[in-house]
Amino acid sequence: MTKEILVIGSLNMDLIVQTEKYPRKGETVPGENFKQVPGGKGANQALTAGKLGGQVRFIGSCGKDEYGTTLLNNLKNGGVIVDDILRVEKNTGIAMITIEKEGSNRIIYVKGANEYVTPDVVMKMEDRFKKASILLIQMEIPLESVIKAVELAKKYQMKVILDPSPVQGLPEKIFPLIDYILPNEIELDELVKNGCQIEEEKAKHLLKLGTNNVIVTKGKNGVSHYYEDKVATYESYHVKAVDTTAAGDAFAGSLAYGLSQGWSLEKTIKFSNLVAANSVTKLGAQSSLPTYQEVMKFAK
Ligand code: ADP
Repeated sequence: MTKEILVIGSLNMDLIVQTEKYPRKGETVPGENFKQVPGGKGANQALTAGKLGGQVRFIGSCGKDEYGTTLLNNLKNGGVIVDDILRVEKNTGIAMITIEKEGSNRIIYVKGANEYVTPDVVMKMEDRFKKASILLIQMEIPLESVIKAVELAKKYQMKVILDPSPVQGLPEKIFPLIDYILPNEIELDELVKNGCQIEEEKAKHLLKLGTNNVIVTKGKNGVSHYYEDKVATYESYHVKAVDTTAAGDAFAGSLAYGLSQGWSLEKTIKFSNLVAANSVTKLGAQSSLPTYQEVMKFAK
């Protein structure tokens, strides 16, 4: 039976330009292909799971501006329940994204309305936690709200998936409440600053703090899943990368989707790898997210 996924997180309008090379300090360089594409880690992940066919509810906050309306409609069209998205008197969050020729990106974001997802807002939504089975959460909303949401999720025996991005220090009390943490390599380095040098040691440190599964995503270099005293590795799919923006979001949203379908974690990680690989072949965040049918076609 399909389980409901509760996503709490950010909505941003992405302002994207492509460039041959990034500017250095004080330098101006030409760009091309300017686009405005709906994004925000929370919304990207919710839309991934929604487009795949998951039952997804989103809690977030955007402005009463045009960006907010566009973002809301995009989620709705992807099958996400948007009734709990606040519209506030503040600009919708934005992200300035520059993409270099080989697909890598650099991002500066302005939180805007996302700051209104306060611990109070989360608490007022307690009812939503009773109905859902999986909490999928990232860190583009205030940290105290993330902690509150994770605590509430555990109160109702939900599975918690945390994408620790954009990375910041987390209090140790949160780790035993996390079922799946999904750092990329840079985030893993930032989360574990106790002198551990190698990935395995760092991941095992998070396991020791109480998290059940540490799933390290490594771009085109695959995924390592650490659990108990074991590690399972998965190769990435070979694709021509056009834009890696939201690859991690596609991965996280798919992981929640797979688990909501009752799939094994192995099947779910393989599927998430596939969805994320598909997303890097297309430009933009939400514009790059596939439907279930598109993923199946891509796999052939
Ligand atoms: P983030 O986007 O959070 O930095 P990653 O770069 O690790 O995270 O990408 C997340 C996932 O997206 C990877 O685990 C992989 O499945 C997929 N992915 C990213 N880049 C590529 C690529 N160049 N080729 C194939 N898959 C990729």
